[in-house]
Amino acid sequence: MANKGQIGVTTENIFPVIKQFLYSDHEIFLRELVANAVDATQKMKALAASGDCKEELGDLKVHIELDEKAKTLRIIDNGIGMTEEEVDKYINQIAFSSAGEFLEKYKDQIQNIIGHFGLGFYSAFMVSKKVTIETLSWKEGAKAVKWTCDGSPEYTMEDCDKADRGTVITLYLDDDSSEYSEKSRIESLLQKYCKFMPVPIVFGKEQEWKDGKYVDTDKDKVINSVEPLWTKAPSELKDEDYLGFYRTLFPMNEEPLFWIHLNVDYPFNLTGILYFPKLKDRVAVERNKISLYCNQMFVTDHVDNIVPDFMTLLHGVIDSPDIPLNVSRSYLQSDAAVKKISTYITKKVADRLEGIFKDEREQLEAKWDNLKLFIEYGMLSDEKFFERAQKFALLKNVDGKYFSFDEYKEAVKDAQTDKDKKLVYLYATKADDQYAYIQAAKDKGYDVLLMDCELDAHYVNLLEQKLTDTRFARVDSDAVENLIPKEDKVKLEMKEDERYDLENMFKAVLPEGNDYFVQGDNLGAESAPVLITQNEFIRRYREMSALGGGMNFYGEMPKSYNITVNMENPLVAQIWASKQADVKPQGELPAEAPSDAPEEEKTKAREAREAVRKAHRADVEAFARENDLLHQIADLALLSNGMLKGKALSDFIARSYAIMK
Ligand code: ADP
Repeated sequence: MANKGQIGVTTENIFPVIKQFLYSDHEIFLRELVANAVDATQKMKALAASGDCKEELGDLKVHIELDEKAKTLRIIDNGIGMTEEEVDKYINQIAFSSAGEFLEKYKDQIQNIIGHFGLGFYSAFMVSKKVTIETLSWKEGAKAVKWTCDGSPEYTMEDCDKADRGTVITLYLDDDSSEYSEKSRIESLLQKYCKFMPVPIVFGKEQEWKDGKYVDTDKDKVINSVEPLWTKAPSELKDEDYLGFYRTLFPMNEEPLFWIHLNVDYPFNLTGILYFPKLKDRVAVERNKISLYCNQMFVTDHVDNIVPDFMTLLHGVIDSPDIPLNVSRSYLQSDAAVKKISTYITKKVADRLEGIFKDEREQLEAKWDNLKLFIEYGMLSDEKFFERAQKFALLKNVDGKYFSFDEYKEAVKDAQTDKDKKLVYLYATKADDQYAYIQAAKDKGYDVLLMDCELDAHYVNLLEQKLTDTRFARVDSDAVENLIPKEDKVKLEMKEDERYDLENMFKAVLPEGNDYFVQGDNLGAESAPVLITQNEFIRRYREMSALGGGMNFYGEMPKSYNITVNMENPLVAQIWASKQADVKPQGELPAEAPSDAPEEEKTKAREAREAVRKAHRADVEAFARENDLLHQIADLALLSNGMLKGKALSDFIARSYAIMK
């Protein structure tokens, strides 16, 4: 027999399409061909299991053979093979796929044999100038057949003398695909795509060290593990198994915190293992460490359309034949099956974390600091996850104690409810820098949370929206007396010109470049003379816009501080008294021009008033600059906020020594 023909009419232009558009990644040809070989082998197993085939199965394996010189690559299997009719039907009329028919017949015994890739075989032409198939079917009386095609729609079919069951696909590599004639390239592709395929895949021989170099032994080198951990029953596995598997997947990574073994077969098929890695900060976050497999065949490590964004922080493997593969990304996102799978995974992850919260609370606390970035990100980005996570998310205070949301509310509600019945959660972002404020709050019987995670600026906002009647205030956002106002305080009354003097005095001694809102307050003789605080909301928006959040207006504003001067403090009282004594009061302001006066006259009058003010302000500033005590109390306040730097700091030290002399 020898015949020539044309591959099905619809395929006239299929090759250029395959080459250019079908797969952007040419390298996947190897996955497709190995997958076909594996399918054929699996089908053989199914036939034997069903009793349809009584023949000796032999050692079921797939061999990859590379001839670097001849630039040919062979994929050899001892699977079911194809009869001449089958080659005609499945290869020549590529619109068909045999999987449907086969599955229909054997659907009870087999699940894992569907080819998902439609035009899989033809991807060989992405890298080859010529392809041959030599195949002998398992069926009794079948004749071996050889199919040859050089990439045009013409093929030849002829008898051949292949004696053993199975298929040999030979690729004559294209000149511009010569990279695939390198052993190392094929090795790394097999590692990438075939590492967990369910049938042994042999490439070359095991090597041994002999006479000063590595030499081949006679033992076949199997590159895959046919029963990866996720295919096993969770009940059979120990922690060490999971940790060991993590190490094979990510040899360079630190040990994971927790893991979850996914295993569902209804209403869709999905198995996998997801690990919670240690996450310290966003910079070190590694995304795309979840690989998607389809019946143990690697598909992609971009699962961002399949799981919610925050889940891409997890590491591991998902294996599902129910995720449509050769479809566009946008289609994937709207696919109902994918949505179900995504919801399922999110739910399982939440279940697992809730389980850890209930049964392994100590573990959760011990690992929380490395886990919370993931959880906070999930809560911020996924409404449903927030609902679940409020049951197991922890809050940590500055003393390293952990609370659930409910526990924390219970713990602080008596001391920290303000006059409007709002619960005020105090927090610090840097325990060292804000030490003095934390101490002051503790002295008042308050608890202070530590919110030092990068996402906390956003997280605090979110919690404020979600937790009813609760407000967050950073410990240094106001004097401790004002953080949780208990009753309406009578405001200190200062005359307008006194207020100006106080403001100008302090502005004269504080670093330039910031905005200051100076105000006097009565905080008691024992309290510090000067407090520097930052308005809670302005600060928060600045921080959020720094993290990215579209609020750049705030990000560009100069830093603004509230300077609260404690008028009851004896040092302040002393400075204020000397100011009153030393600076002569502002003179009488010249009268304003009448409203119907000519413009010129009005301007003149305004300038005259301004001159008086300016002269007085200059007097106040001169006084301030000369007053060591004022400098000292301002600098001490700056110092306790970590704001005294460079020359200002060395001036402060010199002045301190001078005062002590
Ligand atoms: P798919 O695998 O999606 O069906 P392919 O183009 O890769 O599409 O293959 C078409 C058909 O050719 C397969 O379904 C199978 O019946 C047959 N086939 C391909 N490769 C082999 C092989 N190595 N052994 C036996 N049959 C094969």
